[in-house]
Amino acid sequence: MNSSSNTVVIADLSRCQGYANCVITDSSRFDLGDDGKVSILQQGVAAEELPLAEEAVKSCPALALRLESEPT
Ligand code: SF4
Repeated sequence: MNSSSNTVVIADLSRCQGYANCVITDSSRFDLGDDGKVSILQQGVAAEELPLAEEAVKSCPALALRLESEPT
């Protein structure tokens, strides 16, 4: 079982240009939809998934992705 974290990944679709860098970095979490925009397959980020999720967020040239911590 994944250890829990209160982090979620958020996409700003108005910024997404469909570069797919995020999909290449973390294909278990990101995909491209029929509209050419990112589709988030899994929004919650477990603690052990954070490094890869952070890398994917940084890989987006359009700054369309961000991580947010939800209050407990
Ligand atoms: S890397 Fe950024 S611009 Fe490219 S598909 Fe992912 S969210 Fe969209």
